[in-house]
Amino acid sequence: MLLDRPRLAELQALDVDLTIIGGGPVGLVSALAARAAGARVLLLESGRMDRDPAIQSQSDDTIDTPDTHHAGPLTTSRRLGGAGHLWGGRCVPFDPIDFRGRPWLAGCTEDWPVTAADLAPYLAPALDYLGAGEPLLEDPLPAPLNTRLDADTAFTAHRLERWTADPRIERRHMAQLRADRDLYVALGCSVCSAKHTKDRITHLDVWTEAEGRAAALPVGQVILAAGGVASTRFLLALQANHPALFGGAQGPLGRFYMGHVNGQIADITFEDAALQDAFCYYTDAAGSYIRRRITPSEQTQQDHQLSNVAFWPVVPEISDARHRSGPLSAVFLGLSMPWLGPRLIAQAIRLKHIGPPPYRRLPHLRNLLTDPVGTLGFVPAFIWQRYGARTRVPGFFLRNPAQRYGLEFHAEHLPNATSRITLDPTRRDRTGLPHARVDFRFTQDDAAPILRAHEALEDWLKRRGLGRLSYRYGPEVPARGIFEEAKHGNHQIGTARMGHDASDGVVDRWGTCFDLRNLHIASTAVLPSSSQANPTLAAVQLALRTVAHLQQTGALSGQETPHG
Ligand SMILES: Cc1cc2nc3c(=O)[nH]c(=O)nc-3n(C[C@H](O)[C@H](O)[C@H](O)COP(=O)(O)OP(=O)(O)OC[C@H]3O[C@@H](n4cnc5c(N)ncnc54)[C@H](O)[C@@H]3O)c2cc1C
Repeated sequence: MLLDRPRLAELQALDVDLTIIGGGPVGLVSALAARAAGARVLLLESGRMDRDPAIQSQSDDTIDTPDTHHAGPLTTSRRLGGAGHLWGGRCVPFDPIDFRGRPWLAGCTEDWPVTAADLAPYLAPALDYLGAGEPLLEDPLPAPLNTRLDADTAFTAHRLERWTADPRIERRHMAQLRADRDLYVALGCSVCSAKHTKDRITHLDVWTEAEGRAAALPVGQVILAAGGVASTRFLLALQANHPALFGGAQGPLGRFYMGHVNGQIADITFEDAALQDAFCYYTDAAGSYIRRRITPSEQTQQDHQLSNVAFWPVVPEISDARHRSGPLSAVFLGLSMPWLGPRLIAQAIRLKHIGPPPYRRLPHLRNLLTDPVGTLGFVPAFIWQRYGARTRVPGFFLRNPAQRYGLEFHAEHLPNATSRITLDPTRRDRTGLPHARVDFRFTQDDAAPILRAHEALEDWLKRRGLGRLSYRYGPEVPARGIFEEAKHGNHQIGTARMGHDASDGVVDRWGTCFDLRNLHIASTAVLPSSSQANPTLAAVQLALRTVAHLQQTGALSGQETPHG
């Protein structure tokens, strides 16, 4: 049931088992799963159905490192659905190797407190809630390509990424959100503080848009799902009042802030046209979009001391009109129009594609005129597939006769205690909550394994006669390209990490805070390392596991708080 701008008295009158803070993809799925388990749920969401600039300004945190981290409004969305209004909808599970200690990687030498097998039962339900189809995650290449690849398993192109049919998760579940009388979705309700005893939250301080002030709401079990940065910021504000919480000032809270290291430092030229065809987007039997990624085996990662990484070919840089492609220029022109581009894709992704202004549009117009057949063959079909079809195509991959493409890498960002979120003591938002202050760092430790991964991939391509790489940056400045491209803030990983005890983690293996036993965190912030995979699917799997644990221990029906 949607409650738009309720007053606090209305919330206090509700009788619920579980209160969830945040209505993004992870909070929404947590709420739906808790309802499926029979709990009565109140979800408190800052935003409303549409964007409200005053509410959005609550995410305008202080970014100390603007070269490496996007501004808050590009990475968070304060409305029902959260960053689902911005995300690509790419769903990729973490790999078994991510959960294990890897002695060769700084910050990753310890096992996670959970294993890949612990998360596996939640894969299919997580994909289903997100609308990303079946748990089909591998698809062998067609013969005879597969025999050429399978003879050397250093890398594989069998593994798939899946895409949500509709990235706006709230839209997928709107009928239930509106109709379910034991699920209260309170919009315009920002949680700005909490009262607690030594080991339990007793009240949340909720700022209601209806009243323009905060007051205390008594709570039982609480799931914090406000997004990576906002959840961390809320916990830091609690810690500011009780410095021993969450491992204290030297503890893990706010540290190890990660995203992904992604970009292109090389082009790939395929030897075989069939291989380039294999990287087009396609749909599975159920109609979900999928696409291949090239990934190294566990053995290759160990032998070459790699961080986890995935590669895929992309079209040439659309902003560089020398590609002479009408379709690519049409995409550039659309994205670079200030009145149109931001409506088409998230600003962070748009800026990555079009680069910084000024934009030279004339050469692109020339490409349209010299390639009318290509342009007209592409543009209407793409607009239909993207904005008209029932399942939207997530992107485009245009084949070219030279079989040469940008080689996108999406690599693990290693946990580093100095990459962190703190509170900005000089700025508070309109609800009185101090803003976060972001110091987001990439280091040589991140770059070196990525360079080695390119070398290992190049060897494999050559050995199998599949293709070759051409580097865009000279060997004398090997890491420069990686650092020039690296900018993130979209994935918000690690700052309330899962650990073995309070000295190395904020939450235990069930997502429950070591210190406050009725406070559970469902967020990418709990992931202890970042994988090659985009993080939302893993965060949703963990959230489902937390809810299942709360149900199994009776905590959702008002019995004892669960123990680790
Ligand atoms: C441009 C972009 C592209 C991305 N692409 C992908 C992708 O392809 N694949 C992938 O896996 N991930 C992707 N992500 C990341 C993905 O969007 C996030 O991992 C995901 O949205 C996290 O969901 P969440 O519910 O934890 O947090 P959010 O989506 O951030 O939602 C948090 C919600 O909590 C609310 N809130 C915040 N503070 C409070 C408070 N104090 N009180 C009440 N409510 C509060 C907010 O208004 C918001 O609605 C992308 C992100 C961006 C920005």
